[in-house]
Amino acid sequence: MTTADKKPFAAIYNTLCVQSQHRLTPQQHAIEEVTYFNTLSDVSLDAVQASADRIAREGDGWFPKTAHWLMLAREEQKKLDSSYQPQRRMLTSDERKAFAARREGVIAKLRRRTGEIVKGITWARLADAFSAVEKIQVPTVVPVYVCSRCEDSGWIKTTDTRGGVTLPASEMCPCRATNPAFRAIASLPVTERTRVEQQAFESVPAQKQITGGE
Ligand SMILES: [Zn+2]
Repeated sequence: MTTADKKPFAAIYNTLCVQSQHRLTPQQHAIEEVTYFNTLSDVSLDAVQASADRIAREGDGWFPKTAHWLMLAREEQKKLDSSYQPQRRMLTSDERKAFAARREGVIAKLRRRTGEIVKGITWARLADAFSAVEKIQVPTVVPVYVCSRCEDSGWIKTTDTRGGVTLPASEMCPCRATNPAFRAIASLPVTERTRVEQQAFESVPAQKQITGGE
């Protein structure tokens, strides 16, 4: 959860207090609410909601201790993470044109370079680059990112200008705590990530792929 989840969390917490007949003075209530929020901060609001529902449904009527609620919330988080399906959409015709134009631009640049002697670039490397670009096809389907800032990678590209030189750098995206796509992908080993992405792609119905837009 992030600070933006404080209000919806308060609603979940209050509901559970009523369901468990957890009666406190207003001061105790305020302190407990903050304590529970902080304890549960590394799981998503959805997982907190799912675990609260479970406590209300299956609990013995006692209000949960922080550690118990956290354990259940983590279990619910795991379920949510593993059931998340990345979404795909068709490229619009403008996007396809832009992609094709960029590809042509790179090919044209490489062609020009074949007439130059570029320091450090051998003919073999140039030929490799050529065939690599020619193999790139204009995609028909692209991912729909939950977070456009980091494209669900959890990292935002930035630059580091310390020392007077501009260097590429990256910083953690604040979406990590709440982004189901990031959590789902980050929880898998690398080889498994590719398989899951492929499956998700294949499972998108053709109709959705055609009509799915932004
Ligand atoms: Zn992000």
